[in-house]
Amino acid sequence: MTANKSILLLPGDGIGPEAMAEVVKTADWMGQQRAVGFDTEEALVGGCSIDAAGVPITDAVMAKAMDADAVLLGAVGGPKWDAVDFAIRPEAGLLRLRKDLELFANLRPAMVFPALADASSLKRELVEGLDIMIVRELTGGVYFGEPRGIETLPDGQRRGVNTQVYTTSEIHRVAAVAFDLARKRGNLVHSVEKMNVMESGRLWREEVTKLHGEQFADVDLQHMLADNCAMQLVRNPKQFDVIVTDNLFGDMLSDEAAMLTGSLGMLPSASLGAADETGRRRALYEPVHGSAPDIAGQGLANPIAMLLSFAMMLRYSFDLGSEADLMETAVANVLNAGIRTADIATSDTKKVSTGEMGQAIRDEMERLSG
Ligand code: NAD
Repeated sequence: MTANKSILLLPGDGIGPEAMAEVVKTADWMGQQRAVGFDTEEALVGGCSIDAAGVPITDAVMAKAMDADAVLLGAVGGPKWDAVDFAIRPEAGLLRLRKDLELFANLRPAMVFPALADASSLKRELVEGLDIMIVRELTGGVYFGEPRGIETLPDGQRRGVNTQVYTTSEIHRVAAVAFDLARKRGNLVHSVEKMNVMESGRLWREEVTKLHGEQFADVDLQHMLADNCAMQLVRNPKQFDVIVTDNLFGDMLSDEAAMLTGSLGMLPSASLGAADETGRRRALYEPVHGSAPDIAGQGLANPIAMLLSFAMMLRYSFDLGSEADLMETAVANVLNAGIRTADIATSDTKKVSTGEMGQAIRDEMERLSG
């Protein structure tokens, strides 16, 4: 018998713990009904860690994150900690996790469940059934490049500098993640840069093309300029399968794609590191939304983004694609049945609490498996 997969659960602040509670119940259900066991451990990150230990993440929790097969995070932050020292603000815990785990590839799916197509700002026919994966390079590019800073010039003007910089290996490793994903999806990758005006963009295009020819020639590769990609995402989003791009363009294009889906409470994400010699990748899964302090503790939070983050973990860290499919189908069916948390409810649907939504999804998983 193989050892259980170990998951470090970091519920965090605000609605994080409420949403995470639904994951814990779902993981328990899987242990009982599908013979898929997980060893889970909970720890503190963000504001709750500042309250308990004076820092947003302790070295001991970081060590647990390093050892776990995967980390699942709720959300961090809230007005209670707005005044704490910048260096130990709640978000610093999340940044340390991403940095120390060396998570260089951020995966943001933009999926539109048919039942929610009307929540998009685009027309139903443009987004219904949409399923895009944006792979954003997360640890390089202009957000980290040197030189950087603000200087005062001899004539008294001030000058701000940031540097867009990428190396071959940084481009290859994130492109390889995108090609691997495409093989499990629609087999199409759009690589996005600005090679018409940026040398780093030209290098990006050349290196993606080279890697494609050497290792991924079976995947369909298209290149697109970032400004055109922004336009195409609202003109005809269903032309895309996997989009791979740098840190800056990925920041914007992933938010743009997210809005095609209409609701923050529905969006999961994953951040992946390099594979070790056994093929295991460090990985952090988390909903895109924040801690939503305005609704925390009231049973109003939509747990679906959190549950879909867990489904991504099943698929990408544990190769449990059929369990991930089961969860995603259950979510689609529950939404089709008109069961909604307040953020996605309409006048003709049934409004339920966080716990009731989680239970409805588990009931549907049970029905689908039966
Ligand atoms: P937010 O995502 O927390 O909330 C934005 C709006 O969306 C709110 O009205 C909220 O009620 C709603 N919302 C978000 N998730 C929801 C869900 N699952 N169900 C129902 N409604 C939901 O963003 P914000 O208000 O800008 O930030 C609040 C706090 O969260 C801040 O302290 C911010 O720094 C932090 N934050 C954390 C993360 C993270 O942990 N990754 C990300 C973004 C913001």
